[in-house]
Amino acid sequence: MKMLVAGKWIDRPKKIEVRFPYDGSVVDNVPIAEEEDIETAISNALEGAKIMKKTPAWQRAEILLNTASLILKNKERIAQTLVLEVGKTIREATAEVERTAEIFKLACEEAKRIHGETLPFDSVKGSEKKRGYFVREPVGVVLAIVPFNVPLALCAHKVAPAIAAGNSIIVKPTSQTPLNALILGELLLEAGMPPQAISVLTGPGGSVGMRLVRDERIRLVSFTGSVEVGKQIAQNAGLKKLSLELGSNTPLIVCDGVDIDRAVHATIAGGFSIAGQVCISVQRVFVHKNIYRDFVDRLVERVEKIKVGDPRKEETQMGPVIDEQNAERIVDWFEEARDKGAKVATGGTREYTLVQPTVLLEVPTSTKIMTEELFGPGVAVNSFESLDEAINLANSTRYGLQAGIFTNNIFEAMKAIEELQFGGVIVNDGPRYRADFMPYGGYKESGIGREGVRFAIEEMTEMKTVVIEIR
Ligand code: NAD
Repeated sequence: MKMLVAGKWIDRPKKIEVRFPYDGSVVDNVPIAEEEDIETAISNALEGAKIMKKTPAWQRAEILLNTASLILKNKERIAQTLVLEVGKTIREATAEVERTAEIFKLACEEAKRIHGETLPFDSVKGSEKKRGYFVREPVGVVLAIVPFNVPLALCAHKVAPAIAAGNSIIVKPTSQTPLNALILGELLLEAGMPPQAISVLTGPGGSVGMRLVRDERIRLVSFTGSVEVGKQIAQNAGLKKLSLELGSNTPLIVCDGVDIDRAVHATIAGGFSIAGQVCISVQRVFVHKNIYRDFVDRLVERVEKIKVGDPRKEETQMGPVIDEQNAERIVDWFEEARDKGAKVATGGTREYTLVQPTVLLEVPTSTKIMTEELFGPGVAVNSFESLDEAINLANSTRYGLQAGIFTNNIFEAMKAIEELQFGGVIVNDGPRYRADFMPYGGYKESGIGREGVRFAIEEMTEMKTVVIEIR
């Protein structure tokens, strides 16, 4: 596909190949943006930002609603593309397309309720004759940098609120999965987006991405990706707003007395969907010692039934990971855990990019799987004796995106809610639960700022305070 530069489709001789993770075959290629393309995108985005600022909320809402309808109209084509570039199953891909349409609908509603507040000047002695309020104005040009795992919905989590807020947008998708962002660009134009206000620039993150991050004309970088790249962006962005949605190694605590099957189901849904390549994938499970054996037996039995294979087939429940390098790294981490004393209850091996769903038991806290983000289909299951111990273990990480707890005890639930250092605590469901209206983001190294349409709009607007002296 060509890339989208301020409403025009541009090709360049240097290309990046997009490969099907399942067998490595080439699906398509995209051009590497040159300096001229970056300059054209930014200068037009500045014009586009002026147009967007003057576009009334009802009209921005219309663009968003049109986009939602066009996404659903093109559901099959987009889902097939997602399968081919991400390697996720056709069911997961279809769900992502439907979710993306919902995000645009949500942004359509939120676009109509962006407002400020009046301010109580008579609360300050000497200010009785002042009146005032604040309004929210668009920041200008938003740069959206997107990861490979949920490329369409996470792109929508940036593009839709940016449009709702009245900004122009430059998207830099990842080189592994750029095709869906380009299709989205096409649909946005068809939906009525001013051409100057939308570009989708393809190319490597380290060059094209970093060049954009450093540019002072861009007023906000909305990044979803790894902690390491997030830190590089923070070091290079200068004085612009930053929204960083980064990684995690998500914990789930399972207390005594709960419905074990529900907790097992949440572990499987959270640990193995999209082959564990989700920022809130369940990775560390802490189970009360009284139910540990039972939990593990039921978990392993069901994990062994997961159908792994070609993601294009309806019956496949788990597809490959993104590339062979990551498959190798993931299996290396399993081996490191085994070398340090963990037991492999099931899995632990791979064929090319298909990593077997893996359950590790009694995993030492010094291992990579307990301390870093696996981003693959594996869960580490350890037992605990007291809730204090489980909460300490869950918090013993540099990450803090979401955590989960299954408990029947209100006091245990409240203690966990108050003490877990995470941006979200999910009680009696898996920590992978997310609704797109929720504030969503991380404590500690999991990020800065919050997404979730309404909260992203807040990040993507400046507050302007107005003070008026009366007689
Ligand atoms: P990544 O950090 O390698 O890349 C993300 C994006 O950044 C890509 O578009 C890439 O091209 C770009 N990039 C790379 N280097 C750059 C640089 N120096 N300057 C500017 N841009 C650069 O992440 P990934 O491997 O695509 O995705 C996996 C990561 O994303 C995981 O860590 C996962 O937890 C995280 N993630 C977080 C969330 C969340 O909402 N918190 C959601 C999904 C994924």
